[in-house]
Amino acid sequence: MANDVHIIGGGLAGCEAAWQLARRGAKVRLSEMRGGGSTTPAHQTEGLAELVCSNSFRSDDHENNAVGLLHREMRQLDSLVMRAGAAAQVPAGSAMAVDRDMFSYEIEKLLSNHSNIEIIRERVDALPSSGPTIVATGPLTAESLAENIVAATGQNRLAFFDAIAPIVHFETIDMDVCWMQSRWDKGDGKDYVNCPMDKEQYLAFHQGLLDGEKTSFREWEADTPYFEGCMPIEVMAARGIDTLRYGPMKPVGLDDPRTGRWPYAVVQLRQDNKLGTLWNMVGFQTKLKHAEQVRLFRTIPGLERAEFARLGGLHRNTFLNSPLLLDRQLRLKGAAHIRFAGQITGCEGYVESAAIGLLAGLMTAAELGGREWQAPPRTAAMGALLAHITGDAEAASFQPMNVNFGLFPPLPEVKKKLRKRAYTERAKAEFGKWLEGLEAVPA
Ligand SMILES: Cc1cc2nc3c(=O)[nH]c(=O)nc-3n(C[C@H](O)[C@H](O)[C@H](O)COP(=O)(O)OP(=O)(O)OC[C@H]3O[C@@H](n4cnc5c(N)ncnc54)[C@H](O)[C@@H]3O)c2cc1C
Repeated sequence: MANDVHIIGGGLAGCEAAWQLARRGAKVRLSEMRGGGSTTPAHQTEGLAELVCSNSFRSDDHENNAVGLLHREMRQLDSLVMRAGAAAQVPAGSAMAVDRDMFSYEIEKLLSNHSNIEIIRERVDALPSSGPTIVATGPLTAESLAENIVAATGQNRLAFFDAIAPIVHFETIDMDVCWMQSRWDKGDGKDYVNCPMDKEQYLAFHQGLLDGEKTSFREWEADTPYFEGCMPIEVMAARGIDTLRYGPMKPVGLDDPRTGRWPYAVVQLRQDNKLGTLWNMVGFQTKLKHAEQVRLFRTIPGLERAEFARLGGLHRNTFLNSPLLLDRQLRLKGAAHIRFAGQITGCEGYVESAAIGLLAGLMTAAELGGREWQAPPRTAAMGALLAHITGDAEAASFQPMNVNFGLFPPLPEVKKKLRKRAYTERAKAEFGKWLEGLEAVPA
């Protein structure tokens, strides 16, 4: 079968993109290396869209939860992942969880039965030089292809490990305790939020880092390098009592307006998105367990009521510096026939990866049909996530991101406890209008 589009990677994103394209009449070649003699360290089977860890797609509550809203938007677009998920669903309260084998079986059945899709079990080692292509090879992209991507994009543009510092919703920071200032008033002077600590608070916090329960690396992640610039905060703490005070918690050049003096130590947060709604804790990448992070980081003055858009982590994870490398349509700048989709674009999670695969499919279908692409509204879950990875995130500190309300344009006029509902209502209305403008899928 001569193909219109080559999709590389039969995971969540690649399968979803193939489905969306095939339903719109495009002939798809889907290359998946598992089943063709290669595998990844995490996958166990040869099945398409294998869930490598948890069997949960997280919350299905589309009124109060951003990932639940993303589920709803995907269902409205007849998502393959949501369709197979419904067929394989197992009870999980307000979350959506699936039987992983049945889920993969359903995906494979729907794709193999589609006359527009050819599934080839092969590893692809280089980016095709021409023809519409979607690369969806995921967080464990085969080494040969990863090297080829580095050659095409430049050194340090493709990361092989993430080093995620926790990200805080700005509106939950107590600005009566914290203040905005850059060290020595450099930059525009307001680039950082500073949380001050006295000696007693610092010593208790340091001890908390040493005592806190950590997650361990998987066997095949054990050689994860600790680069000096992204060493876990607790590893740095273990080097000595003052290491952090001379590192990420350095107080010099920062005058606490309440005392007029430098504090004993500071925790600094830096803006993480253009909207200014998300701030990351600088240098706080960590392997502490999530519950431990929330407990300990809420002991930091000014963060007592912090809500986290995402918590810290460190994993094997192949991802592009997408805000720098990709255009708003997920195309590689300078090689527009190549689109990226899924976790390799720097979104994170099964659902987010599938959603970006779905969008890559729609974009490619519009291109093949000679139609102008209209992005989903930024006020919707899909639009907010897409905008973040394709330019709204800060490229210099770009790390993988889940969908969350901090990516949505803020609604400061709405009372805090009503805000989630307000975000989802606005999203539903505007996403609905966007759907009306989409080309209908042929029967
Ligand atoms: C160990 C681990 C645990 C995780 N746990 C969770 C979790 O609990 N919940 C969650 O939401 N997310 C989790 N994730 C993230 C999750 O894997 C991704 O969000 C999701 O699978 C990404 O979808 P994707 O389609 O981008 O990549 P994948 O689903 O990984 O699919 C990529 C596919 O491309 C294939 N491939 C790679 N290179 C090539 C090549 N050169 N040629 C052909 N085929 C190739 C792979 O075999 C794979 O099938 C985890 C990730 C890892 C690594």
